Amino acid sequence: EVIGREASFYFEGEQETYDLLQPLFNGNKDMIYVESWQRRKDGQKRLLAWQCRVLKDERGNVTGALSSARDITERQLAEEDLKRALADLERSNKELEQFASVASHDLQEPLRMVASYTQLLAQRYENRLDDKAKKYIDYAVDGAVRMQRLINDLLTYSRIGTRGNPLEPTDAHSALGEAIKNLAATIEENRAIITNDELPTVRADASQLVQVFQNLIANAIKFRGKDIPRVHVSAQDHGREWVFSVRDNGIGIDPQYADRIFQIFQRLHTRQEYPGTGIGLAVCKRILERHGGRIWFESEPGKGSTFFFAILK
Ligand code: ADP
Repeated sequence: EVIGREASFYFEGEQETYDLLQPLFNGNKDMIYVESWQRRKDGQKRLLAWQCRVLKDERGNVTGALSSARDITERQLAEEDLKRALADLERSNKELEQFASVASHDLQEPLRMVASYTQLLAQRYENRLDDKAKKYIDYAVDGAVRMQRLINDLLTYSRIGTRGNPLEPTDAHSALGEAIKNLAATIEENRAIITNDELPTVRADASQLVQVFQNLIANAIKFRGKDIPRVHVSAQDHGREWVFSVRDNGIGIDPQYADRIFQIFQRLHTRQEYPGTGIGLAVCKRILERHGGRIWFESEPGKGSTFFFAILK
């Protein structure tokens, strides 16, 4: 079917294709790569990737052309699908963030009312309430205060993506210093000893890096064993990324909880054993994801834990 036909017979948008090939014909280029949609014999439109080359004789005269075409329609469609899926994901992520932020913000006000009126009830009617009623009010206040804390934590969590600063060269050593300063009271109370090796400069949101150090060191002290808490921070160059570690001599963690402890509000202990809401590690994880990094730990119960986090250089 091909033999004896003009090549143009097979192409739609003939002029356009011809224009694309001009650099080849006028000798400006030896080889050319173009993509164009063409209609197949069965009528279907397909995207073709053309590679064309002119053939010349010894004196440089053009004697012919060699072209090969590859059907890249599937690849193109897959790329478009991927782009659409990515855009969907971004949108739903943003919506989720907005939802968490709006919900936690709007829940604060009614909750403040519950807490303050229950407390008012306890004060104003102190003499008329029996012990049982007082106990119930205590529970109600306790519940409201706890919920307030959870909502605040949720708000913090939801703002990691929306309120973050751009990633800039950040001195990890001064970020650690800042975290230690923020934890001064806890460190002193527990007589904790924090040491560190030399730390690099990394591309990070400085205040979020402080937050990561702060959460990890606070945990290292909170989940201490009988000995004085000793926490050591160091960093290793792994080529594409820096891997930081925060090692403690605390109670340790069963490795079976490797995923669970990084989930929001998930903890391994009751509030009575150790205070907290279970947000600290979820915040660290989210921050590191924003930095294109990761977080994990190595530990054995009773033998201390080491938390690692990787940040791209
Ligand atoms: P919280 O400290 O409020 O419980 P986190 O998200 O910071 O919340 O930690 C989740 C859980 O992971 C903790 O409840 C604890 O069981 C465990 N964990 C975290 N850090 C340590 C650590 N350094 N040593 C032992 N257990 C830890």
